[in-house]
Amino acid sequence: MRLILIGPQGSGKGTQAELISKEYEIPHISAGNILLDNIKLNTDLGKLAKPYYDKGQLVPVGIVSDLIKQRLKKNDCSKGFILDGYPRTIEQANLLKQFVEIDKVILITLPREKVFERISKRFMCKCGLNYHLVYKPSKVKGICDGCGGKLFRREDDTIPAIRKRLHIYDKETKPLIKYYGNKVVKINGYQLIPEVFEDIKKVLSNRKF
Ligand SMILES: [Zn+2]
Repeated sequence: MRLILIGPQGSGKGTQAELISKEYEIPHISAGNILLDNIKLNTDLGKLAKPYYDKGQLVPVGIVSDLIKQRLKKNDCSKGFILDGYPRTIEQANLLKQFVEIDKVILITLPREKVFERISKRFMCKCGLNYHLVYKPSKVKGICDGCGGKLFRREDDTIPAIRKRLHIYDKETKPLIKYYGNKVVKINGYQLIPEVFEDIKKVLSNRKF
């Protein structure tokens, strides 16, 4: 079960990746986390990536591809994996293809206006806890359950910032959907979390891996 998960911000992609990972006992592999882990652990690839990361520059595709390749070789990937946040471009998809065949690409869709609606209800605390007015409200409105701190909206959750990220997402995703063709399964993300997961499970049980 070698899966790729694609979806816009606010689609609940991370939550679904976790649910899939638990249900099918396959690791949830986030490209961003792998990069950070390798830099933190000062691995050979981490050392190569660090100067770019520190300067806020994009880490070269070859390095990222090697990081993913190395991760997918680990034992816990023997039954499959769920890749989150990778590949983002055709170039990355081509590199990935050189060492692994993908079975399914799960695309979680969410209408544009719903993205705004969902993200505008996200709040966080300086202690690191996250909240959502609908999905994960704090016990007292505006106050953190953990530390009693005042909740605030993330700086990059403003309308112009969301719009910009969505624009990038569209630009990157459309070619990928074409690239993966009939491996792509669309899942309606405008449902409750368990309902979205049910739809994903249906798709995954329809096929032998
Ligand atoms: Zn807090």
